[in-house]
Amino acid sequence: MSRSDAPAGDGAAPDGTDGTDADGAQRDPLVEVRNLKKYYEDDGFLTGDPVKAVDGVSFDIRKGETLGLVGESGCGKTTLGRTILGLESATDGEVVSDGREVARLSGKQLREWQRDAQMVFQDPEASLNDRMTVGEIIREPLDAHEQGTKAERKERVFELIDLVGLNEEHYYRYPHQFSGGQRQRIGIARALALEPEFMVLDEPVSALDVSVQARVINLLEDLQDELGLTYLFIAHDLSVVRHIADRVAVMYLGDIVELGDTEAVYNDPAHPYTVSLLSAIPGSHTGTDRDRVTLRGTPPSPRDPPQGCRFATRCPARVRPAAFADLPETAWDGIDALDTVLRERASLEDGLTDRLRRSLGLAADANDIDEVVADLFGWHPGEQSPQEGEGPLTSEARAAVEDAVRFARRGEDEEAAAVLREAFGSVCNRERPEAHVVDGDGRTSACVRHTDEYDSPAAAIDERYARRDD
Ligand code: SF4
Repeated sequence: MSRSDAPAGDGAAPDGTDGTDADGAQRDPLVEVRNLKKYYEDDGFLTGDPVKAVDGVSFDIRKGETLGLVGESGCGKTTLGRTILGLESATDGEVVSDGREVARLSGKQLREWQRDAQMVFQDPEASLNDRMTVGEIIREPLDAHEQGTKAERKERVFELIDLVGLNEEHYYRYPHQFSGGQRQRIGIARALALEPEFMVLDEPVSALDVSVQARVINLLEDLQDELGLTYLFIAHDLSVVRHIADRVAVMYLGDIVELGDTEAVYNDPAHPYTVSLLSAIPGSHTGTDRDRVTLRGTPPSPRDPPQGCRFATRCPARVRPAAFADLPETAWDGIDALDTVLRERASLEDGLTDRLRRSLGLAADANDIDEVVADLFGWHPGEQSPQEGEGPLTSEARAAVEDAVRFARRGEDEEAAAVLREAFGSVCNRERPEAHVVDGDGRTSACVRHTDEYDSPAAAIDERYARRDD
């Protein structure tokens, strides 16, 4: 891998440390994740629905590679990492490593796995006990696992201190006497104490200055080369991931939507969510004619994810029903916004907030559904009967909106949203898309548009924007 001081830049080439052998052949998986789910059943007094933090993901982490895991905050990245390590118990599915079904381990076997697989946390400030010396912090896992004699453990701590670029005298100091970058080195030394083969690095440089980030990343790369480590590198900073990861998995609302070689994904994203995510990086490729593909609103609640494709409520490439193929983009913008209003109104968890109104650019009080419709479509369902051609909706589309409004007026928002989806939904709203292989290297993208039946995601996005520009 490259060793520049800047975290952003060229991706890795096969060099025997990136999940491929020296001849470029793919290595065996170290960790196999199959249909893994992690739901949180909290008090449930509001809706009774669990929070689906991770909702059926499957992928491999190959020996010696760095697999990047990216996605918006709250998409389930950290929960996925913690569940793989056994720090959270899986609701369903399997994590298999070296013949062990990790998600079902307990007692001694679980402790063995947690020795072989370690975690480095985002906030080095919070993850180190300020009342312990650096030596004690790094030695703690060795003591807990009763590794060697006391003298051997102390010797091992000095080795680790040297390995991560700290000095011997640091053994006797306390965490608050160190900079953020040095504290992260202490956290890394502690994670390495038991000689793991696999590490989950959870936003390990997010809390650090950019110059310090580069040094810590270079340290992680050096340690990987030297010790043959395998990393799951969780981050929201796409530039950092591009620099360090051999492959990247893109996560949205508890699901992995795209997974493939980092450079291939960054140069030609396949999934509409990846397209929009990468388009936020200045100068990046999106695979479409657009420099920037903006997403409407915020992700839905993981307590009530959309049926079908998780991304359907925000997707710029969502398949539209043939019956309404001629509706103008302004009509679709209104229909999508109305759907969002109804979904959020239906959610007792969120209620209606100013955030929703702002995110949709609504002037109307979103509690008043007639005002919302008037705002979105220029027609007040309670007062006017517009003529055909007046406003963006056809009479057929207007009838469907009126049906939905009737339910919404009675406070039956879930039914109203269902009416809207019945009329304007498509395969995207009905079926959870399977992962399709989209290139010769086995990259996968979970989108129905990778079948012959539909235009590609990029073509669909280009068409939408072109129609909007007209
Ligand atoms: S299946 Fe593809 S096109 Fe349909 S909503 Fe999901 S990402 Fe968009």
